[in-house]
Parts: sequence; C-alpha cells; structure tokens
Amino acid sequence: MTDAGARGKPYTVGPNGKKLVTVIPGDGVGPEIVRATRRVLEAAGAPIEWEERLAGAAVFKAGLASGVPPETIESIRKTRVVLKGPLETPVGFGEKSANVTLRKLFETFANIRPVKELPGVRTPFSGRGVDLVIVRENVEDVYAGIEYLETPGVAEALKIVTRKGCEKIVRLSFELARAEGRKKVHCATKSNILKFTEGLLKRTFEEIAKEYPDIEANHIIIDNCAHQLVKAPEQFDVIVTTNMNGDILSDEGSALVGGLGFAPSANLGNHVSIFEAVHGSAPKYAGKNVINPTALILTAVLLLRHLEEFEIATKVENAVVSTLAEGKVSTRDVVGDAIAASTTDFAEAVVQNLGKAPPKGWHVRDYRALKFHSVPATPALVVAKSQRTVGVDIFLESSLDSKRLGEALVELTKGTSLSLHGISNRGTRVFPPSDAMLDVVDHWQCRFFAKDGKGEVSEPALLELFQKVGAHHRWIGLERLQEFDGQPAFTRPQGED
Ligand code: NAP
Repeated sequence: MTDAGARGKPYTVGPNGKKLVTVIPGDGVGPEIVRATRRVLEAAGAPIEWEERLAGAAVFKAGLASGVPPETIESIRKTRVVLKGPLETPVGFGEKSANVTLRKLFETFANIRPVKELPGVRTPFSGRGVDLVIVRENVEDVYAGIEYLETPGVAEALKIVTRKGCEKIVRLSFELARAEGRKKVHCATKSNILKFTEGLLKRTFEEIAKEYPDIEANHIIIDNCAHQLVKAPEQFDVIVTTNMNGDILSDEGSALVGGLGFAPSANLGNHVSIFEAVHGSAPKYAGKNVINPTALILTAVLLLRHLEEFEIATKVENAVVSTLAEGKVSTRDVVGDAIAASTTDFAEAVVQNLGKAPPKGWHVRDYRALKFHSVPATPALVVAKSQRTVGVDIFLESSLDSKRLGEALVELTKGTSLSLHGISNRGTRVFPPSDAMLDVVDHWQCRFFAKDGKGEVSEPALLELFQKVGAHHRWIGLERLQEFDGQPAFTRPQGED
C-alpha cells in the first residue's frame, strides 16, 4: 500500500463523488448508537457513501477466531476509513480481540482522544475551560502482547518501543497541534526509570520538536502529568505518550469532561483510520434505546474532519453542544432514569439543532487537514556506525541461593574467555554479595563480560559459555549485550556502580 501522505488524501472518493466509509455497527449498544449517528450525519448533508460490514460477536459465533471477516477487510482496504461501533471481546475461547485485530492489521498507530469541556455536562472541572487532546501510541509498548511465564511464579512482558513508532507518533502530535491551531505539545514519559524504551520517545520528541519551532515543546514525567491533569488540566494542549501510559491517561481525561458517554476517539494510520467511541458495548443497555450516543456523534465529527468536511463537522459539533447546553433532551447517564430521553430522541434533538450557532463561550477552532508523514518502509530505520558484542545475560531458573549460584558460575567460566560479572534478581544486584535485603525469586539474570573487561566477545566464545552453563543449570533466555557507536545498549542493575 502506498502512503496517505503520498496519495494526498487519507480517504477514497466513490464514482458518484461521495466519500466512502466502512461502517461496522458492532455489538451490544453499537447498532443503536451507529444508527443515531448516521441519522445525524445524513441530516447534516455529509457526502458519505456507507459500506456496512460485520465484525465482533456474530463473527466469533460463526467460528472466525479473528472476529473480522475477509469482506470487512476488503471494504476497509478500499475505503480506508471506518466508523465502528464497540465490539465485545470474547473471554476465554482463544479468540483475539476484534478491536486489536483491526488496529494491528491496519497499523493505526495513533489513538487520538480529545478532552473538551462540554456545555451542560456538569463535572467538578466545569468552568475551567479544559480543551486538550491526548495522542496515544497505539500498537507498540507492552500491548505488543509478548508475554512469558519465565518460571511457574515469574511472569514477564516485553515492552517494545521503536524509533519508527516514536517518529510517527511524535510527528503526528505536532501536526495535530498545527491542524487544530494549538500552541504546545507535552511529551509524557517514564524516561527517568525506563531510559531506553520511554527514553526513546523523549529523545525522538526533543529531536523532532526542532522541526516545529512554532509549537512549544515540553517534556513531563508521566506520573506528574497524571497529577497535573487533575490539578490544572487547562494547562495542556496536546499530550503525546506511549501506549500503556496513554491508555490510563486518556481514561483519566474522559473523566474530566463527563465520562464514557461523551468520549470520542480516532485511531489514525497512514493507510487506514478507524473512528469509534471510547466506551464498550454496554451489554446491559443493548436494545433498550437508552444509551447516550454523544460519544459516537462527536467521534463522527472527528471523522468528518478526516474527510475534510470541515463545515459539516462544525455544524454537527455545534448542534451537539447546543443540545447539551439546552439540557431539554438528556439521556439517563446525565439526568437519571426517571426523566431521561431515549437514544433516538437525543439524536432527533441534535438533528433539530443543525444549523444553530454554538452556545456562548464555546470555542470553535479553525481546523485544517492533518498532514501525515511517511516513514521509510525499511525495517532498520536507525543504523549504527559500529556495533559489537561485549557480553551476554543468561537468565536462569534456579532454586539455589545467590551465593551458591554465583560461586558455581564462577567455577564454570574458569578456562573460558568470559567471566561472571554479577547476578541480579528482579533488577537488583545480588552477587557478588551485597547488603541488599532482597526477597529473591527463582529467576536470575547472570551477566557475563569478556575477561579483559573491554574486548569484543566472539560467537564461539558465547556458544561455549552457553553450553557450559546449560549443562548444569536450567536456562530460560539469553540477551546479547551490545555497544552501538561505543555506547552500551543495556542497563546496569540496581546496586552496580
Ligand atoms: P462499557 O461497555 O464501556 O460499559 C461500562 C459502563 O459505562 C456502562 O455500564 C455504563 O455505566 C457506562 N457507559 C458506557 N457507554 C455509555 C454511554 N454511551 N452512555 C452512557 N453510559 C455509558 O464497558 P464494559 O462493560 O467493561 O465492556 C463491555 C464490552 O465492551 C466488553 O466485551 C469489552 O471488551 C468491550 N469493549 C469494547 C470497546 C471497543 O470496541 N472499542 C471498548 C471498551 C470495551 P452505568 O452502568 O453506570 O450506566
């Protein structure tokens, strides 16, 4: 597939001039909110041709483990834009999440969550003028889903962060700031602890920020960002962050402005973009015509901007905020069951308000098309001038104590070109013995370097060591210790100078 930037437009226009959108009604309350949203878009005159396709529960029931049938994939490849109702994640039958299948299949690398105070929706933050966007990396990090039970009692997940992934998400966050007339971007990371993974996002951000001198760039530690979001949310404009941090932060953001009934989102990629409300299928309300459709209607506003239908987007947004501000027609999550309007009543009220000016105080932004950047398709985006192996970590499962294990490994390496540098347990050095009062587990990280301390380790030397250690101890994993351009590409354990 070519890149959206290269093609010019991130959507496809059909033979009749309308913009093609694949619509997936989804599970639970999905069909109701999708119907309500389509009703509003059609009444607003959105030039969209819908291709309705299936995904989720019905597809799992029919025996397809991915939850996404080929005809849905084919439609998305053609239209490149999806409006999606929530999809149930089956529990315990070996099926994958259809949501994750879609996100990964089409590399929708950015999750965009606007957090904007809505008139008529009372929260402890009302009146503060909260108006920010959280940009969450959407495919990497621990959500790559690579996990192991290393020993019966020790679990491990790989946190994968790449330069490619960071470049894409960082550029998108600056481009989003420009497209929405915003002035600053905060990059929120845990780089103080995770220097390579979270640090990669920070370093990439600081580098790419120089290409956007018109936007103020700030780094903030993620825990402080969560704290500041509650303390003074109005200070933020755009926040870019890694997948897991973004998952948590964006739900925190939704809560600032009214919760799940009001939280829109977009999953953007260079080839395909998927628009969906943040909430799930809310099964207990399915078929009852009571759910709040605002989140999906506001999601459709994001979709319209993606389709470069800026005027219609503003018209729909103004109609939604006018309806909320009037407060005459409100769903049960806002006013309670006794006096609540139905999903369809709310949608009709929005339709009646199409063309109305926004309520006083509602800031209408001057939106422009979002620019997507292409990243070279080559797997190696970064190439070091020099690269060498200086040692190896061998991870062992052992019920020995650290002293006995250490002494045994020292003995084993006699006569080889590598020596035991140290042993760590859950990241803290335990051999040579120290004063650390550690509750150790049966999972040991045993680090070996070349005996002269500086030399390059050969492949035969690594294999010899591996065979010797493996003959006496149960190995679980190996990690090559490398230097790129003379800099170590591994961290040191706690307790090592
Ligand atoms: P949920 O469907 O989001 O519902 C949780 C609760 O949030 C509801 O019971 C309701 O609260 C409130 N809520 C959700 N949407 C609302 C709306 N539009 N208006 C008003 N209130 C709303 O979360 P869940 O029950 O954890 O998940 C149900 C299924 O959805 C699961 O299978 C899950 O995997 C899936 N899911 C899918 C997606 C997706 O497709 N992107 C996202 C999340 C979850 P009250 O009970 O207080 O009224």
